[in-house]
Amino acid sequence: MAGLVAGFVPAFIQENVDLSSRNTFGIHARARYFCAARSLQELRVALQFRRVRQLPLLVLGGGSNVLLCADYPGVVVQMALLGIEVLAERDGELLVRAASGESWHGFVQHCLQNGYFGLENLALIPGSVGAAPIQNIGAYGVEVRDLVSEVTVLDVGSGEIETLTAAQCEFDYRDSVFKGRLRGRKIVLDVTFRLHRQPRVNLSYSALAQALSEVTDPQPGDVFAAVCAIRSSKLPDPAVLGNAGSFFKNPVIAKASYEKLLQTYAGLPSYPVHDRAGQLSTATVKVPAAWLIEQAGWKGKSCGRAAVYQQQPLVLVNLGGATALELVALARQIMASVERLFDIRLEPEVQWIPTEPLD
Ligand SMILES: Cc1cc2nc3c(=O)[nH]c(=O)nc-3n(C[C@H](O)[C@H](O)[C@H](O)COP(=O)(O)OP(=O)(O)OC[C@H]3O[C@@H](n4cnc5c(N)ncnc54)[C@H](O)[C@@H]3O)c2cc1C
Repeated sequence: MAGLVAGFVPAFIQENVDLSSRNTFGIHARARYFCAARSLQELRVALQFRRVRQLPLLVLGGGSNVLLCADYPGVVVQMALLGIEVLAERDGELLVRAASGESWHGFVQHCLQNGYFGLENLALIPGSVGAAPIQNIGAYGVEVRDLVSEVTVLDVGSGEIETLTAAQCEFDYRDSVFKGRLRGRKIVLDVTFRLHRQPRVNLSYSALAQALSEVTDPQPGDVFAAVCAIRSSKLPDPAVLGNAGSFFKNPVIAKASYEKLLQTYAGLPSYPVHDRAGQLSTATVKVPAAWLIEQAGWKGKSCGRAAVYQQQPLVLVNLGGATALELVALARQIMASVERLFDIRLEPEVQWIPTEPLD
């Protein structure tokens, strides 16, 4: 590729772009430069552009897991690579590759319609395919790590294209190598999933089993419909009320601490924890952050135009015109009171950009 001349801005890169329609919180933040990368060539040009200008880089999908705390002083690249293809099919197992810019829910629907089963429990999660491995999305008893075969990435430094196996992605609860030691160093180009021709309905999540208790021999389509119905009844639609889903992770605590807490808070629920190898942990349990936040008295409370969603206290919402600093202030107050009451430190699931916003 020919080098970019200093001062030249490629036509597909726009200056001073409002990102409010590109993050589901609807926060008004501007990107110094913004582009949608619709091809590998455009992505490479955008990377070369930021290198020549020595600017920071932010890769975005659907903006449904970020809190933009300030205007972005560099280049924001929204992944818009499209394409879904079946790479192989053997013994009832399919390898299906989807490009990073595909809508996650659209991909789940496509698979269901074509009889590629396994993703149904992850229906209606907003965002893109490329972001799915970043925090190992999960819902209703399934995590994406259960289905990822491999992830193709572009190395930001060298421009090389590499393939990471699922093991190399180091998936964990709402976590992966992309949020750890490879943070900011790899751009996901596509993800290959291992799916099945034979339905393998997973009703391990009790609310889902309950919703389908009247259905004889539930099929993947029933699971998909039930998950969509439960999610729509519980979670605010970002198009109506800005939000980024669960704002905090469910904390994992030592079993001994949990048992001590039970003496004061007899109703504190807990869930089993599995390690990276899928083994059940005997030393730790997961407790629901929503329960802790509600007990701390935050349900329905607000800070300026930022609020705790009345029906699900794990979700912070933009009542309209909230600033990121109002959301950050609310989040910090919640974290402080949960820590004071339960001695548990809540960790945000939503990525704050930059990571430590100024007050
Ligand atoms: C109403 C609602 C419900 C939700 N429910 C769930 C749920 O049930 N389970 C769950 O796990 N999550 C849930 N989420 C969170 C969110 O939908 C997921 O985290 C989703 O995967 C984010 O996708 P995105 O494309 O919007 O990512 P973005 O928000 O654009 O980006 C998220 C992070 O990934 C990075 N990134 C994005 N694309 C790439 C790429 N191609 N290469 C490298 N880095 C990249 C970004 O830099 C950023 O750090 C919910 C969000 C909302 C608004």
